[in-house]
Amino acid sequence: MVEGRTQKPLIEETKCNRCRVCGLLCPDLCITRDEGTGRIVIDYDYCKGCGICPAVCPKGAITMVLEK
Ligand code: SF4
Ligand code: SF4
Repeated sequence: MVEGRTQKPLIEETKCNRCRVCGLLCPDLCITRDEGTGRIVIDYDYCKGCGICPAVCPKGAITMVLEK
């Protein structure tokens, strides 16, 4: 996990249309498409919790949640 991160994004599968906009605009390039399942996945080892992906998702499929 990235040190100092206080929130992390979660993707709601049922809302996501797999458009990949979030992955294109993530400054850390840590959102990718799993070639096996087709799902959009976030690599939490690199996500810094900047909050850009929920802001740009056209489906409102991403929510920031507090780190536990
Ligand atoms: S919160 Fe920021 S760094 Fe993390 S996945 Fe979203 S855009 Fe990328
Ligand atoms: S921007 Fe939203 S709808 Fe598009 S792939 Fe990302 S989470 Fe899914």
